[in-house]
Amino acid sequence: MGSQRKCLVIEDDPDIRDLIALILTDAGFDVQAVETGHDGLIAAERLKPSLITLDLGLPDMDGREAARLITSVSDAPILMITAFAERDDELHGIASGATAYLIKPFRPRQLRELALQLSPQETASSAVLPETCSQP
Ligand code: CA
Repeated sequence: MGSQRKCLVIEDDPDIRDLIALILTDAGFDVQAVETGHDGLIAAERLKPSLITLDLGLPDMDGREAARLITSVSDAPILMITAFAERDDELHGIASGATAYLIKPFRPRQLRELALQLSPQETASSAVLPETCSQP
């Protein structure tokens, strides 16, 4: 019982990592955070999270490559979080394969709402949700 939904946070910036972890813990997730794409990949396979946030600017791996590898080991929706410097058209391409993205700096409420959208509470009536959230 009370099995909390797990969220894997992949982010190398410690301040942003702590912020994301705080917001998502507050939103009811059991948060596990890692710093690299490599660790994220291992954790995604082992933890079976119900949501993954992925920073696209990781030290060891291209964000798109990381997203591709993660989707090969996990069915969890991926919320990509990226600096605004990255190009929008690339983000659209990536988001179609994953689920959604958020541009830094983001508001805590945006992150919370997106996270809850992507990984809704299981306690709600088992309504079948349409596959929303992906960019057209
Ligand atoms: Ca980063």
